[in-house]
Amino acid sequence: MSRFPRAEFLLSAAAPGQFPADRGAEVAFVGRSNAGKSTAINAIVQRQGLARTSKTPGRTRLLNFFELAPMQRIVDLPGYGYATGPEEERRTWRPLIDSLATRDSLRGWFLIVDARRGLREGDEALTEWAGPEQRIHVLLTKADKLNRSDGAKVLKSSAATLAGRGTVQLFSATAKTGVEEAQRTLENWLKASPAS
Ligand code: GDP
Repeated sequence: MSRFPRAEFLLSAAAPGQFPADRGAEVAFVGRSNAGKSTAINAIVQRQGLARTSKTPGRTRLLNFFELAPMQRIVDLPGYGYATGPEEERRTWRPLIDSLATRDSLRGWFLIVDARRGLREGDEALTEWAGPEQRIHVLLTKADKLNRSDGAKVLKSSAATLAGRGTVQLFSATAKTGVEEAQRTLENWLKASPAS
């Protein structure tokens, strides 16, 4: 049985004015294109095809909001590899991120990172978006592609890069590794009252 049986697509936003009302709780999902973000969202929410909405033409550059339960949302951000250059990035992407990051309802960020790459120096931009009261959880996806020893290594190096600013876990939608842990984290954040 799904933990989020009533999950459904809410709306797509191209500008902060189109965001849903800033009430309740929400968690943002962000990652480079192809990191496995859509697959992870579908596995966590247990609704196959839910995040496919974010991949439909015309929606790939938008922020896509899904309601998991009344007043509990996730926000699927565009893969941040899409911007052609720093200028386009600044113009279209930054204002959206900045507005999202300052919402009262934003409890935290799930960073989706390919486990074969790991979270590295240079990924700080991601963690810098998060306000001090917002949490960070890193999913090292496609962990099925690594053996146990390499999995342990990337977990350790990614934790070192995070330097206590967030938590990190191995995840594989294919092998169903870490799905439960990710669900629990998401659920706890969505239930938590602000700054608790
Ligand atoms: P997104 O662009 O970050 O949303 O990435 P997708 O979810 O579309 O996944 C990108 C590619 O990685 C697809 O070919 C997926 O089938 C593959 N992929 C995603 N998750 C996993 C996983 O857990 N294991 C493996 N082996 N492949 C995965």
